[in-house]
Amino acid sequence: MKLHEYQSKFRFAEYGIPIPRGKVATAPKEAFEIAKEIGAPVVIKAQVLVGGRGKAGGVKLAATAEEAEKRAGEILGMSIKGLPVRKVLVDPASEIKDEIYLGVTTDRAARRTVVMASAAGGVDIEEVAATTPEKIVRAYVDPCLGLRDYQARDLANGISLPRDYWSTFIKIATGLYRCYLESDATLAEINPLVTTGDNALLAVDGKMVIDDNALFRHPDLAEMRDTDEEPPAETAARQAGLSYVKLDGTIGCMVNGAGLAMATMDMVKLFGGEPANFLDIGGGAQADKVATALRIILEDPNVRAVLFNIFGGITRGDEVARGVLAALEELKPGVPMVVRLVGTNAEEGRAILADANLITATSLAEAAQKVVEAAQSAP
Ligand code: GDP
Ligand code: MN
Repeated sequence: MKLHEYQSKFRFAEYGIPIPRGKVATAPKEAFEIAKEIGAPVVIKAQVLVGGRGKAGGVKLAATAEEAEKRAGEILGMSIKGLPVRKVLVDPASEIKDEIYLGVTTDRAARRTVVMASAAGGVDIEEVAATTPEKIVRAYVDPCLGLRDYQARDLANGISLPRDYWSTFIKIATGLYRCYLESDATLAEINPLVTTGDNALLAVDGKMVIDDNALFRHPDLAEMRDTDEEPPAETAARQAGLSYVKLDGTIGCMVNGAGLAMATMDMVKLFGGEPANFLDIGGGAQADKVATALRIILEDPNVRAVLFNIFGGITRGDEVARGVLAALEELKPGVPMVVRLVGTNAEEGRAILADANLITATSLAEAAQKVVEAAQSAP
């Protein structure tokens, strides 16, 4: 789960990281009031869950409260990379000397948490990572020791940060690491961390991604989820307890069990098709969950055929069949569907589906082959 900039920065502040003391507005007039209160000049920043807002025109300076209102009005009417802007952060404008990158994430190859820093921070950091990776310095963290001061000092030295800033930089880097760790984050990033005219460091932008699987132990973070900014299918799937990942192909797959789901996708590809999604309805799914899953699959306009591959263990074939039937009655889909139902109560399931206009298969290979054919011959 991604956090907004303001959510990330407010959390960073709890770890002693200096941030501009701004506030969130949802209307231009509110931005005006905030600018009056904190004092212009201010910067108006779109709160959307994508990067590159600055380049898209979602970050604008305003010299007066009146201008803040105007700029907020412009930004609140924008869409950035398809996401409508519903909130803006109004921050006191910072005087920026240099822009530094500082981030914490997991390096899977090193099997360690890595802290990265670069003197070439700001809006072009992706470009830096791609073309001049040597400009990014790294410190690998021993999980038992945490980020040590000497490691943070090495980073400061590695990016040629003037010594006056080092003690603050060390506090920020160790604070960011602790924030990452204690939030069960997969990313905590400050870009840019800026040096200001008065010889201070300030986190001007912030980003955090929290591991969804750890949210149960962070109710305060779970509450921050902004479902307005999430694709509706993902929200629906999460709320129904389905594991769903949208893909670009044309064959919708409904499967129980992650391993079987992956094997099914492999089979579809083997026979020349492309899966439209990964979907695991989980063990013991009831009819309503199956219906929700089918609804999510059919809402994807790329889907030209659907494959049900259900291996009944805890999941009962008759429950699945009832869910499929309920969804078919409600949605009246025009796309062909192939069903392979085996295991617990498969017989009952097949009987329930006998009158529905479905293509049946007994083996996975047969099912995959049939669904690929069906998708290719569908109008
Ligand atoms: P992003 O484009 O989504 O990464 O948004 P950022 O918050 O990082 O803003 C993009 C760029 O706008 C920064 O790299 C800065 O160069 C500039 N910027 C942001 N806030 C301020 C500010 O308070 N003062 C000045 N002068 N520039 C700012
Ligand atoms: Mn940024």
